Amino acid sequence: MNLHQFAETHEVTNQPPSLDGANLWRVDLPLQDWVRRCGGGWAESRIDAYGALAGGPLMAAGFLANQNKPVFSSHDRYGHRIDLVEFHPAYHELMRTAVEHGLPSLPWADPRPGAHVARAGMTYLHTQAEAGSGCPLTMTFASVPALKLQPDLAEQWLPKVLATEYDPRNVGMAHKAGVTLGMAMTEKQGGTDVRANTTRAFAVGVPGPGQAYELVGHKWFCSAPMCDAFLTLAQTDKGLSCFLLPRHRPDDTRNEFYIQRLKNKLGNCSNASSEVEFRGALAWMIGEEGRGVPTIIEMVAMTRFDCMVGSSALMRQALTQAAHHCAHRQVSGRVLADQPLMQNVLADLALESEAALALSLRMGQALDHLDDGQQTRFARLMTAVGKYWVCKRAPAMINEAAECMGGAGYVEDSILPRLYREAPVNSTWEGSGNVQCLDVLRALSKEPGVLDALFAELGDGHGDRRLAAHIDNLKAAFKDTTDIQYRARQLTEDIALGVQAKLLLDAGNAAVSDAFIASRLSGSGRVYGALPRGIDVEALVQRSSPFSN
Ligand SMILES: Cc1cc2nc3c(=O)[nH]c(=O)nc-3n(C[C@H](O)[C@H](O)[C@H](O)COP(=O)(O)OP(=O)(O)OC[C@H]3O[C@@H](n4cnc5c(N)ncnc54)[C@H](O)[C@@H]3O)c2cc1C
Repeated sequence: MNLHQFAETHEVTNQPPSLDGANLWRVDLPLQDWVRRCGGGWAESRIDAYGALAGGPLMAAGFLANQNKPVFSSHDRYGHRIDLVEFHPAYHELMRTAVEHGLPSLPWADPRPGAHVARAGMTYLHTQAEAGSGCPLTMTFASVPALKLQPDLAEQWLPKVLATEYDPRNVGMAHKAGVTLGMAMTEKQGGTDVRANTTRAFAVGVPGPGQAYELVGHKWFCSAPMCDAFLTLAQTDKGLSCFLLPRHRPDDTRNEFYIQRLKNKLGNCSNASSEVEFRGALAWMIGEEGRGVPTIIEMVAMTRFDCMVGSSALMRQALTQAAHHCAHRQVSGRVLADQPLMQNVLADLALESEAALALSLRMGQALDHLDDGQQTRFARLMTAVGKYWVCKRAPAMINEAAECMGGAGYVEDSILPRLYREAPVNSTWEGSGNVQCLDVLRALSKEPGVLDALFAELGDGHGDRRLAAHIDNLKAAFKDTTDIQYRARQLTEDIALGVQAKLLLDAGNAAVSDAFIASRLSGSGRVYGALPRGIDVEALVQRSSPFSN
């Protein structure tokens, strides 16, 4: 008897084929549709090329960069202070590829209509491969509108911010062709309440915009501390002001910027987040003295936009993995994706993913048309609405996608645990959930025309009586201002759902818009997979599955 044949316990069956190397653009029909729809179609070949990278080498680098967390050294072996954070080469590969493909710079360097959409499309692909590197990429991208408020500093820094060259060396900006930027606002006593900042700025000579100051104080969160400079808030006699604080002084010596330690985070592991102290750090004032919050908000608005793009991307990658798994995995002799209850779950996840993408790219489209007042007001409101809603939806959606994969979705070899740990950060940083909802109220009450811009976008329901009723309810909810703060989450959610429904209706895919409206505007289950009867789940599953189109 050949005992060897009984020892063969590992014939692998009933496992999906590998997704490694899949072009993330080509396997994503909704992304292709929405990029074209929102005006980014001219960049298709560029996004396609990035899709191949994201699904191939960047995906592999993403695993390595997260398994090998950044390491902080305060001193060298001789006792000199060095404040050095070292990253795995895979992290640098992610950064280099993104910078060289214009992820932090495209819409500023080539500001034609559709550029924000194209960049958001590429960021969507990059984030699916690896999200942590997105932190310095987005901060660099977002710094541009704030830097432009101080033309003398912008002239010096912008060419390097917009250069498609990544240089991680620990040297002054004069020696680099390309730089990255971060931001430092949050202090121990207040993150939301930045007005409680205690960091002080002292003028070196003449005070005022563009002038040199020395900063003394701390920041409780300062991510990507190896960036070349940080937009920083500090107090002067006229109040909170914004500064550009480089890591090196113009004479090439290290600035008085000291990293205390790295944060030990839930996720976002490839990215370093630190606590820092300034002990007379040289910095230059950006914008008007005492107007630090409005100045840095120019940057924060863009990072909030990227939070929504990022959470949409995390959801899409979770869906891609789940849909692929279920298209191949059989249970009780039937492929999971053909079984009605799993179809209900997958279709529901696909709806969430596409609605998040639609809202994010519609926001990108608005950013591409800020010369139009209606688009500016829409973008003002939807930055807060989308940051709140899309980021809030991601963790539960990703959890459900992981469950579709059974035990495989709980294991680190799959990307699902990383996506799940990553998801909550987008709803916390750059202003947490409640802060976004309060900002929605602020935009609606303080900025003329914002409510009109919202209802102009929503229209009359586009022939759908359920959406028309939702819009009427929303109008009534805004007329009554009693307890409006208490109701702010519900109002924000209702705006988000109304706009998502309208975008999906306009796009003309009835299977998607009908299912979204039936499940989101007419109240069904409180978990995913409780879609009402009559939904074309097969069409939804088909549309979202990689390789099915
Ligand atoms: C991984 C990570 C990286 C970060 N990187 C940076 C960075 O690079 N630079 C930087 O400056 N910051 C950074 N942050 C800080 C982040 O932006 C803050 O943590 C965030 O803004 C919340 O501030 P806080 O932690 O002080 O919480 P708090 O301000 O204490 O808020 C606590 C809670 O109260 C809620 N809240 C606040 N006001 C109200 C209100 N009026 N009504 C109801 N609820 C309210 C908030 O929504 C929040 O949920 C980072 C955070 C994390 C987690």
